[in-house]
Amino acid sequence: MALRQKIAVLIGGVGGAKLALGLANLQPTPQLTFIVNTGDDFWHLGLKICPDIDTLMYTLAGVVDPQLGWGIADDTTCVLAGLRRRYAIDTWFKLGDQDLALHLLRTEAMRGEVSLTDFTSAIARRLGITATILPMCEAEMPTTIHTRDHGEMSFQEYFVRRRWQPVIQRVRYGSRQAASVPAPVREALAKADLVMIAPSNPWLSIAPILAVPGMRELLAAASAPKVAITPVIGGDAVKGPTAKIMRELGLAVSARTVASYYDGVIDGFVDDLRNPHFSMDGLRTTRLDTLMTDLERKVAVAQDTLDWARGWVS
Ligand code: GDP
Repeated sequence: MALRQKIAVLIGGVGGAKLALGLANLQPTPQLTFIVNTGDDFWHLGLKICPDIDTLMYTLAGVVDPQLGWGIADDTTCVLAGLRRRYAIDTWFKLGDQDLALHLLRTEAMRGEVSLTDFTSAIARRLGITATILPMCEAEMPTTIHTRDHGEMSFQEYFVRRRWQPVIQRVRYGSRQAASVPAPVREALAKADLVMIAPSNPWLSIAPILAVPGMRELLAAASAPKVAITPVIGGDAVKGPTAKIMRELGLAVSARTVASYYDGVIDGFVDDLRNPHFSMDGLRTTRLDTLMTDLERKVAVAQDTLDWARGWVS
């Protein structure tokens, strides 16, 4: 592999950002490009909000709220308090004041016809991030959740307002009209020495990326090995609704289910030591400790995955 390895990572929010921080702290640091889910993006209070992009940027910039894993550490919530107290607005989506500053700028940029790709790059630079952060596409491709008891709802209605409690019957990935893979994403995939799929939620964070028209074909055409890391450890998700969704969709909660879901996309899978061994035709697997509890563990998971992939490429 190249001296300074080029790694492209398909990634969602809080879970994915743990791996991203590990990769960014490797020595020597690889040339990192994150291709981020924008299926969670939405307009709220007149503002364009990109939760996964922002979580990743705040994490890599070292300003993320360490308890929540999203938002800015020690942020105030004066604007939300004003909305609630003075205007009786239901402030179900938590937005800190400094976080709002970014949404204001992004909304202004979008109105001025700046692309989300260019805006994100400019903000990432401003925040001192050296990795490249790319939205999965420019067109809006909002994820919609079909629930058993409450009909269809937007992603944030399901995820934040209803705290992912409704039972999922089906997930629909954005309207594909006019959506395409942006040129910088194409280039990153074509030039990568390694493509990784972060241990993000396969159904809510990675599937929307794979649903961008042309994305699967580009991945298939990429010469680099493609490796996913399990989000399931010991028969459960580490955090969030991944396991609950699998049960609701009638799937076994296992790493094998995740690997099968990525069938045709990946050629390597990093399972966790705590999971029962499985094998699948045509898929290389390894079992590592993938639990990322602190920075040291995040770096270790990034390094171990790279070492493994290097071993079977060379
Ligand atoms: P979200 O967009 O904020 O929901 O975050 P992601 O989709 O990026 O990540 C959620 C997934 O990350 C969940 O399925 C978790 O099981 C997984 N996850 C969180 N922490 C870890 C960890 O330390 N190790 C592994 N292997 N997976 C993790």
